[in-house]
Amino acid sequence: MQQLTQQFIDNRWVDSHSRRRLAVTDPYRQTQIAEITAGDASDVDAAVASARAALPAWQALGGQRRGDFLEAFATALETRRGDLERLSSTNNGKALAEAAIDLDDAIACYRYYAGQARALEQRQGRLLEHGMDGVEARVFEDPAGVVGLITPWNFPLVTSAWKIAPALAAGCTLVFKPSEVTPLPEVALADIAVEIGLPAGVLNLLLGDGEGIGAPLSAHQGVDKLSFTGSNAVGEKVMRAAANGVRGVSLELGGKSPILVLDDAEVEAAADWVMAGIYFNSGQICSATSRLIVHQTLAEPLYQALADRIDGLTLGDPLAEGTDMGPMTSARQREAVERYLEIAKEEGLTPVRDGRHRDLPAQGEFVAPTLYRDVPTSSRLWREEIFGPVLCARSAESEAEAIALANDSAFGLAATVISGDAERARRVGRALRAGSIWFNSEQLVMPEASWGGFGASGIGRELGPWGLSGYLEVKHLIGPSA
Ligand code: NAD
Repeated sequence: MQQLTQQFIDNRWVDSHSRRRLAVTDPYRQTQIAEITAGDASDVDAAVASARAALPAWQALGGQRRGDFLEAFATALETRRGDLERLSSTNNGKALAEAAIDLDDAIACYRYYAGQARALEQRQGRLLEHGMDGVEARVFEDPAGVVGLITPWNFPLVTSAWKIAPALAAGCTLVFKPSEVTPLPEVALADIAVEIGLPAGVLNLLLGDGEGIGAPLSAHQGVDKLSFTGSNAVGEKVMRAAANGVRGVSLELGGKSPILVLDDAEVEAAADWVMAGIYFNSGQICSATSRLIVHQTLAEPLYQALADRIDGLTLGDPLAEGTDMGPMTSARQREAVERYLEIAKEEGLTPVRDGRHRDLPAQGEFVAPTLYRDVPTSSRLWREEIFGPVLCARSAESEAEAIALANDSAFGLAATVISGDAERARRVGRALRAGSIWFNSEQLVMPEASWGGFGASGIGRELGPWGLSGYLEVKHLIGPSA
């Protein structure tokens, strides 16, 4: 069993000051596969001091050279691809094919921000057009400084890439805390930093939980900006901590995203998109389209098509070929989802499919893929993020009602529209209150497009040039032009 009782600070693994240890598990085999330190505030102090010391030289290096390091990150991930896919699948429980998609996403992200780093250098000091004679105004974009990055367990290497790559491109130095549930794939980032010769202190990686590392990192006055992905409950804590000292914060939080199936949709194709939007990664996706709103004329055939597809899903060993759905990532998450299934019983919801319709594998933290129909909008399952393979459906009489139902949520991360008419799908998509809207497709993510949500889904945007600007401070240099 792997022992990870050290922290990666200043390009070296050094003993953590904490004596507290946490178990890392394989959720399919239900065995402990590693033990990590829980971390403590003095680990955070050391990592922040290292990042602070490294900041001026990293900024001065310029975007061109920083871009080279980001390219090297991408190449090193590619070289380790097979090992990282297996590690991610084992630690998270996701099907191996999904771990491969994650790796593609992370690699593309590092490559994209290599280009963004170079483009940033090109535009530094550009002249601003304005109406004041005899005055020149130049625009610079400086790094935000030392940044604290905190990520969840559902997409190891991906949620971290979306923060680390733009932060490094911008010229920030960082302290990164991966989730204590899935730290194993992320540890490779420290090895890669050493391998590619990243200057010491630019990337520090601290293992630990919220109490040991997350809270002290968020509260640390040596951290200029915090970028957090995770639950709303913790996101609010991070935002409160950032208020002390007026430090920047960006938050990627939860979702309860709708999928609208309009009356002109083709039922079989719609069923495929609905499945892709909720049962991927066992439903542990912030952008899962977990509320199905179907035009009433299509409801019965669509529920039947979904039931057939759910019955056809193979649950099992995530490493085995042919597995469609692995276990939940932790016993804790399985229990959290099961609590919602209990609430569904209390509320009297009607299951089209649930645990009664299939036998679960003999081992692993499994929850059966579940579909409830005619779910009232007052139901807790309709309104709250479940973060599991649980789809809630109801029908609508019209397009207008479907849009109103879709937008009736505190969240606004993503949405999907399925229609036989692409123009109509685009129009309905424009009416939805969400950061990512897919039409006749599902969960398409690319580094060039933005990621992030309206309302309770968070603050700020990751990916694209918006992701970079989250790690930059804009300044002007203004004076006589001659
Ligand atoms: P979580 O909030 O429990 O944990 C996220 C991270 O915060 C972990 O690293 C954890 O150790 C740390 N943490 C815990 N307490 C802390 C504290 N007091 N201060 C600072 N950090 C602390 O979330 P999770 O269970 O790991 O992930 C699931 C959640 O993440 C879901 O709500 C999901 O929607 C959200 N998520 C959002 C996105 C997005 O892009 N919007 C992506 C993935 C996941």
